[in-house]
Amino acid sequence: MSIMSIDNRLWSAKAKTLSPYVPGEQPKHDNLVKLNTNENPYPPSPKAVMAMQAVLSDEARMLRLYPEPESDELCQALAGYYGLKPEEVFVGNGSDEVLALVFACFFTKERPLLMPDISYSFYPVYADTFGVTTHSIPLKDDFSIGVEDYHKPCDGVILANPNAPTGRLLPIEDIKKLIAMHPDAVVVIDEAYIDYADDVKEASAIRLIRQFDNLVITQTFSKSRALAGLRVGMAFANPNLIAALTAMKNSFNSYPLDRIAQAGAKASVEDVTYFEDKRTQVIKLRKALTQDLQALGFTVLPSAANFVFATLAAHDAADISDRLRQEGVIVRHFKQPRIKDYLRISVGTQAQNERLIEVLTHILSVDN
Ligand SMILES: *Cc1c(COP(=O)(O)O)cnc(C)c1O
Repeated sequence: MSIMSIDNRLWSAKAKTLSPYVPGEQPKHDNLVKLNTNENPYPPSPKAVMAMQAVLSDEARMLRLYPEPESDELCQALAGYYGLKPEEVFVGNGSDEVLALVFACFFTKERPLLMPDISYSFYPVYADTFGVTTHSIPLKDDFSIGVEDYHKPCDGVILANPNAPTGRLLPIEDIKKLIAMHPDAVVVIDEAYIDYADDVKEASAIRLIRQFDNLVITQTFSKSRALAGLRVGMAFANPNLIAALTAMKNSFNSYPLDRIAQAGAKASVEDVTYFEDKRTQVIKLRKALTQDLQALGFTVLPSAANFVFATLAAHDAADISDRLRQEGVIVRHFKQPRIKDYLRISVGTQAQNERLIEVLTHILSVDN
C-alpha cells in the first residue's frame, strides 16, 4: 500500500512528513542473477555459521536470557582485529542503525551537515528524520570528491569511502585534510566497502582515530563479511564519541544485537583466513567484470568496492536495466539526473558475471 493512500489522521506531524529510504529490491524467488544490492556473492564464514548454530543448539536455553547489552565480546574481537581498545569500538543493528545514532548524537546542531550530492541515499533520509539541515556539495565531473570544496562552516561531514554508488576511493591524504579542516565538527567516513580496496590497510581511516578526536568510521558485516541478513554494523572513534553513541543507544534500544548476531559476528571476525580469501576473490572478479564491460563499450569508473558503476554511450541505462530484468538479471539504476545514464552492478560469482555479460551482449547485438 502506498504511503499516500493510508489514512494518516492519527499520525504525528513528524510521521506525516517522513520520506523513507527505499532499499534495492529483494525478489521472492531466487532463480534470478541478483546484482542489485551489493551483497556478497559468497556465503559467510562456516565458522560464523557454526557459532550461530551453537547458540541455537547447546545453548538454546540461553535465548531465554537477554543478550549482553554492549556486545562486549564482539567489541573485543573487533578491537583485537584492528589494534584498538574496546572503548574505541561500538556495534549496532546494521550500520544503518549505527548511522542513525551518529546523526542523533553529532549532527542535530546549528550549522549544516555537509555531504556529497551523490552518495548513500540514506543520509538525506536520516537528516530529515532527525531534523538536520544539510548542504550537498557536488562531486567533480569525474565523480571524485574534491575536499577543497568542503571548506565551509558546518557541524558535521558525512561521506562514504569508497563512495556509493560510484565506487570511487578518496585517498587517505585527502581524508586527513578534510578532518583537519573541521576540528569542531564530527567527520564521518562510512567505510561499508573499504575491505574491497586493493590495499585496505592504507585506504582505511581507522588508524586516524587516535590522531583526530572528531573522526567516526562506520563499517558493516553486510558486504565483505556476507552477513547482510544478520544485521551487524560498527563504528570506530575516540572513546568520547563512542560514549555518546552508547548513551544514545541506551536511550532507545539497549539490546540491539541478539545472542545469535553477537556470536556469528565474533566468529566471522576471528576467521581471518576465510575473510581474506573471499575478499581477494571478489576484487579479482571485479577486475575481470570491469574488463568485460569495457570490451562491450562501457565506460566503468575505477572501483574500490564490490560493485562497478558503468555507462554506455548512446544507450538508455533505464532501458538496459529493464531488459536485463526481463532476462532474469537485476542491477540498480538511479533516477537522479546526474547519474541516470549509469548502472550500478554488484560483483557476482564468476557464473553470475558471465551470465550478465552474455545477456548484455545479446541486448546490444539486437540494438546494433
Ligand atoms: C550497505 C551500506 C550501508 C548499510 O549497511 P547495513 O550494515 O546493512 O545497514 C551503509 N552505508 C553504505 C554506503 C552502504 O552501501
